[in-house]
Amino acid sequence: MSFPELVFLENLIGDIKDKARIEEVARIPYMQERFPIYTLAFGSKDPRAPTLALVGGVHGQEKIGSQVVLTFLETMTRLLDWDDSIHQLLEHMRIVFLPIANPVGMFLLRRGNGNRVDLMRNGPFDGPSPTTFFLGGQRVSKYLPWYRGVKGAPMELESQVLCDFIQREVFPAKVSIALDVHSGFGAIDRLWFPYSHTIQPYPQLAEAYALKTLLDETYPNHVYRMEPTAQGYTISGDLWDYLYLEHQKKELGFFFPMTLEMGSWLWLKKNPAQIFSSLGLFHPMHLHRHKRILRRHLTLFDFLQRATVSSKVWTQLNPEDRAENQKRALDYWYYET
Ligand SMILES: [Zn+2]
Repeated sequence: MSFPELVFLENLIGDIKDKARIEEVARIPYMQERFPIYTLAFGSKDPRAPTLALVGGVHGQEKIGSQVVLTFLETMTRLLDWDDSIHQLLEHMRIVFLPIANPVGMFLLRRGNGNRVDLMRNGPFDGPSPTTFFLGGQRVSKYLPWYRGVKGAPMELESQVLCDFIQREVFPAKVSIALDVHSGFGAIDRLWFPYSHTIQPYPQLAEAYALKTLLDETYPNHVYRMEPTAQGYTISGDLWDYLYLEHQKKELGFFFPMTLEMGSWLWLKKNPAQIFSSLGLFHPMHLHRHKRILRRHLTLFDFLQRATVSSKVWTQLNPEDRAENQKRALDYWYYET
């Protein structure tokens, strides 16, 4: 048994062959089946090389997130056939993919995995602040959404695979950005950065603001609202907060994890009938709209490649610029709203 995104990825892997380092990192058992999880790494083998990581399909019913990542993977595969500039870029950086992080959830069109655990609530830590009621993660019942799994149990295999992938491919890099693509919350496309477990500003707020400024100045008409995740809601067990905190402990390079949360309420407004379908809230149904969404984020991926390889301007701020960015960031994200 399979599903369209997995078939697409496996066909693409057939075409990629020697262009990337491809691994089947796990097989997730479900009923009589075992669903593979693949990772792909393009470019520099120097562990310290700047790295961009793209992740999709963490929440199974948000198929569009996986499709957006797969679309970029396909474009990159084709560019490698003829575009010298991408080869030059990849001499200096690495681009790594985990396009279908929760294959059983995608097969079942379910948010959680085969055990009904919400992988983005499954990290082994609780926030210091009370998290948003229920939506912030719950251990009451696996039959209710946002289930965190049994307290004290090991992480789900899919969560462990995601963490291992980031720790292996991304942590050694001197600079890295991770983008995890989701859909479902709100009416606009948001770029969320840590923290999600607390409303307290995270330590690299100045650099986040510098990156936001770079995005605003380079693409003045971009569609994104960039903000700390906790401005949407606070949650416990977010894997990106967990990974960020682990990275901080190890005093490694600069790691900037982000979530692209595509605002599906907008699609709903244009097509109210969607609410009656199982995928409605998370997935645009009309083909023309679908194509537009798959195209819509390619500019962002291009920007993130550049911001990863040419990171000095936003990650190495001098003390005055850092203080100024910090002040502006606090005004923008914390005092004016
Ligand atoms: Zn999601």
